[in-house]
Amino acid sequence: MKCPNCGAPIAPKFGEMVITCEYCGSGVTLGSQGWTNIQKQTVLDLKIASVDEVDSIIKPLMDKGLLHRHLQEDSTREEMNLSYIPYWIVSVSARTSVVAANEMAQIGQTATTAALMGVILGGMGGGFGGGGRGGGFGGRRRAIGDAWGLGTSGLRSGTFMLGSFMAFGGMGMGYGGGMRKAEQMDANYNFPVVALKALMEYQPHNYVFNLEGRQLFDITKLPKSVKVLNGDVSEDAAKSQAKTLVDQLQTEKAHAKYHMIQQIHTDLDVGDVELLHVPIWFVRYDHKGKKIVLVIDANSGAVINSMGL
Ligand SMILES: [Zn+2]
Repeated sequence: MKCPNCGAPIAPKFGEMVITCEYCGSGVTLGSQGWTNIQKQTVLDLKIASVDEVDSIIKPLMDKGLLHRHLQEDSTREEMNLSYIPYWIVSVSARTSVVAANEMAQIGQTATTAALMGVILGGMGGGFGGGGRGGGFGGRRRAIGDAWGLGTSGLRSGTFMLGSFMAFGGMGMGYGGGMRKAEQMDANYNFPVVALKALMEYQPHNYVFNLEGRQLFDITKLPKSVKVLNGDVSEDAAKSQAKTLVDQLQTEKAHAKYHMIQQIHTDLDVGDVELLHVPIWFVRYDHKGKKIVLVIDANSGAVINSMGL
């Protein structure tokens, strides 16, 4: 097998899909058209290069809080490795439409109101659901059903409220119109997907690398003592992984922002992909049989993952 860039022999290990040619340093990846050059390959500078610097990042993390006091002293460091890890950076634009119950409606959405709706419904037959109110009303059906289970006390106060409800209706405010609000949450991501299957459990969740500071990858400029790992996740697999993870992230953000989401839908577009090599520290401790793992971005000093803390 030959490097598509310089023609030198390349010897990918079984399963490897992203490798760096040892002769010319170009990135080569296995895709549907065989081994091809990676169009764009970048690298982040190694800034946190010494064990002491890593320790000064880890110590306050491990010793924070009363429960964790002396955690680091009581733990045994089992492993501490620095290497360049390949991440596919997938540009994804997400457009998320959310339909949520609005806050006014939530306040009004008491058992009393729901029971009242049941009373009125019972009296009016299907008529209430007609016309422009139908849309908002349909979504309430379950709440109304639940309210029937409340028994007579709910119904009694419902009856008491009847006058004010009719006045409310008389003001021309459609009940359905006030119930929901549609929101749009758009976001663009340069989403990192770790290109090593063995490191999937350390896949960044909502982490942003310092992409402004990246440079074109040139293996001859990297310190010889730090390993540059090859990847075994293809570009196509990374694209579909990025879509799945961005979809989940958008849903999480929506749930953090809005209560009572009734509908959510995300449209995703995948754009450019590049391979970013990031110097990463993996540090593992044993604390009385329990493992603590920290994954630290050796460019920014930030923690990408922490497990067991
Ligand atoms: Zn080459």
